[in-house]
Parts: sequence; structure tokens; C-alpha cells
Amino acid sequence: KITLDTVVKTFDTFRAVHGVSLEIESGELIALLGPSGSGKTTILRMVAGLEYADSGSILFGDKDATDIPVRDRGVGFVFQHYALFPHMTVAENIAFGMKVSKRKRSREEIATRVTELLALVRLEGLGDRFPTQISGGQRQRVALARALAVDPRVLLLDEPFGALDANVRRDLRRWLREIHDQLGITTLFVTHDQEEALDLADRVVILEQGRIVQEGTPEEVCRRPNSPFVTKFLGDAH
Ligand code: ATP
Repeated sequence: KITLDTVVKTFDTFRAVHGVSLEIESGELIALLGPSGSGKTTILRMVAGLEYADSGSILFGDKDATDIPVRDRGVGFVFQHYALFPHMTVAENIAFGMKVSKRKRSREEIATRVTELLALVRLEGLGDRFPTQISGGQRQRVALARALAVDPRVLLLDEPFGALDANVRRDLRRWLREIHDQLGITTLFVTHDQEEALDLADRVVILEQGRIVQEGTPEEVCRRPNSPFVTKFLGDAH
């Protein structure tokens, strides 16, 4: 379980995150939903340890995150523009994290794991291609396989399907949900797309200007939006 308690983050004089408190249960798939600039990415980066809160705390279990070095947090990331290494094949991209990880693996172990991951993301047989030789949707699947390669406890996804067209996004959503259900991995998914959040998540957390304005299951937030902002924001999806 990950707990954010009254987390505040200010850049110079601009307060990007205004006292956010949130509990993320193990195995849950949460969507952080909000318009551009509402603080979603900043929250994700703080959970990842790429950014530090000015005040408030983030706990992994009962341990303060500031006491856990980034590489020991067990987080895997996929970002919209987190490009694959262009000079490496798909298989080499997936293997990269395992090669630089503290846990030493033999060459055979890495090769076996890459084959398993290619099957998991349904890219069997494409391991020898280079990133330019596969589609955008396939590239994001490789990025996810790379994130999963080191067995993270938490998966952080920042608009991972943002650059893709609507049909591909829908397929990837279904597929991500399947993978999530299969692995049961705690997942925090950032999006500004209402339909994507409502379709994918167990729980939707809606942000406005650095504050959580509502959270609940997709049904709850759709049935009982608690402010004109939420009504309008969710309404824009239809
Ligand atoms: P988007 O969907 O556009 O990425 P977001 O909801 O993820 O938006 P954040 O990226 O978290 O929002 O940014 C929240 C606010 O903080 C924005 O106004 C942004 O300009 C500001 N901000 C984020 N990072 C920095 C930084 N390193 N320095 C200064 N301001 C920043």
C-alpha cells in the first residue's frame, strides 16, 4: 500500500500540488484524471522519487519513501515520450533494465525472461526488430515489457497511450487491464482523457489545480459528480 499524506509541491512560487492525500491499495489500478497542469505528473514523479515533496509524506507500506532510494522502490515507469533506445532491438530494450539492475542475472535467465515478456505483451517473434520497425502501439507495449522486466511492485504510467489513435488506445486499454489483472500489480495511471480513466480504472481520482476534487469508482463519480467542475469535465467525454 502507498499512502500520500497532505503532500505539497511548489515550483518557485507556483504551487503544483496543494496537500494531496491518497491511499493506494496493493493491486489497485488507479487513474489520476485531470486537465493539463492539474498536477498529475508531479504526483507520479514524487511517488517515483524523481521529485521531492516540500511537505507531507509518502509511505510505501509503513516506510517513509524518502528513506527508500529510487532504485529500491520497485517502481516501473512508462511515459508517453519515454522513447525506446533506437539503436537497440526490442529484445535488448526489454533486457536493459535487467542488465543494469543490482540483481545479477545470467545471460540465459535474461533471455528466458525476455521471451516470457514478449509473450506477455503479445509481441512474440518481434524481439529482433528495431523500434523504427514496429508500430507506435507496439512500441508502448515494448516500453511496458521493459518496465515489467525488473518485477516492479508498482507501475507508474504517464499518458502511455497519449500519442496513439483512438482505436489503438482502446485496444491497449483492454490489454493493459488484462495484464494488470493477471499480474495484480499496483498501478497508477495518469490521463487527461475521461473515457480512458472511466474505462480502465478500479478507482478514479480527479484533480483540479493541484487538489483532489473527487475520488471513487467510475460508477460513483459518473453517477454523483460532486461539483460543476467534475460534471463538466466528465461530461466532455460524451
Ligand atoms: P499535463 O497533462 O499537461 O502534463 P499535469 O496535470 O501532469 O499536466 P504537471 O505536469 O504535474 O501537470 O504540472 C502541474 C503544474 O506544475 C503545471 O502548471 C506545470 O507548469 C508546473 N510544473 C511542473 N513541473 C515543473 C517544474 N519542473 N518547474 C516549474 N513548474 C513546473
